[in-house]
Amino acid sequence: AAKERGRNGFSFFTSTMQEEMQQRLHLATDLREALAAGQLIPYFQPIIDTFSGQVVKAEALLRWKHPEHGMVPPDLFIPIAEEMGLIHEIGDWIFLETAKLAGQWADIRSQNSARPIHGQISVNISPRQFMRGNLCDQWMPRLQSLGVPPHYLVIEITEGLLLSEQSDVVGELARFREAGMQVALDDFGTGYSAMAYLKRFSIDYLKIDRSFVNELETDTNDRAIVEAIVAMGHKLGVKMIAEGVETQRQRDILQEIGCEYLQGYFYARPMPAKEFLDYVSAMNSEHTN
Ligand code: C2E
Ligand code: MG
Ligand code: MG
Ligand code: MG
Repeated sequence: AAKERGRNGFSFFTSTMQEEMQQRLHLATDLREALAAGQLIPYFQPIIDTFSGQVVKAEALLRWKHPEHGMVPPDLFIPIAEEMGLIHEIGDWIFLETAKLAGQWADIRSQNSARPIHGQISVNISPRQFMRGNLCDQWMPRLQSLGVPPHYLVIEITEGLLLSEQSDVVGELARFREAGMQVALDDFGTGYSAMAYLKRFSIDYLKIDRSFVNELETDTNDRAIVEAIVAMGHKLGVKMIAEGVETQRQRDILQEIGCEYLQGYFYARPMPAKEFLDYVSAMNSEHTN
């Protein structure tokens, strides 16, 4: 029987792989209900201006509080949502939640500060979601009805998307930027890093992947790579955001190198919306006084 299954390809899987697949199937079924059941929760991680120390941006990161399995990591369920086509509904929803928070953030800033600066929040867009097209056209009226200016929002895309020839990526990114939203290229350095595409696409921010930031203190190659990425980005008129900043020393090196924005556990972990608003109120009043 094992041989027969072998010919069909099934015995290929070890029991743990089989378990993993079963778990995925199980999660896929549950994911259909998760949004309606209120199990998906938007978290927000602060992004700090390296030179002023103020919280000026944030990134929306999705969480799934599964009733039996606890917190399911997005690296696990986002690919499932993509395969099932649920990413569109989930993506539209997190965009709206993010826009609402960006509006609330602007309100508290204008109350608390003599010189109010709005905060910008970024939303991750997965390739499948982007490929469906028309995202900008669908989202603009929703922003308008919320009364949230588009320049409060940034979309985060990955390098893989830029290499795709299946859809009009150049045109869609241009629409986002014409509408007033900004564009960040996420996980920079981990993908194909065909730097030539930076000329073809209009990008406002490069996010240096945390794998480079990790060993910035000890690995001289990583430091050289980060210095080169930042120098190149600046020549192209792009601002830099470092991901995964966990120590004071990493922060100091990134400041020396001239990286404009910092994100990581050294400052704060991703947190629910209300906690985030409390955090920025506390942090930013500390730094302006
Ligand atoms: P990403 O967009 O690169 O997000 C950054 C990840 O780094 C987040 O993981 C964040 O929690 C983590 N992180 C931040 N600071 C640190 C640090 O100092 N140390 C370490 N070790 N990690 C840090 P998270 O939240 O698990 O998200 C993983 C990925 O899932 C994201 O990577 C993104 O690709 C995807 N994702 C999350 N939310 C969404 C969403 O709403 N839509 C889509 N399409 N993808 C999402
Ligand atoms: Mg991201
Ligand atoms: Mg990233
Ligand atoms: Mg990532």
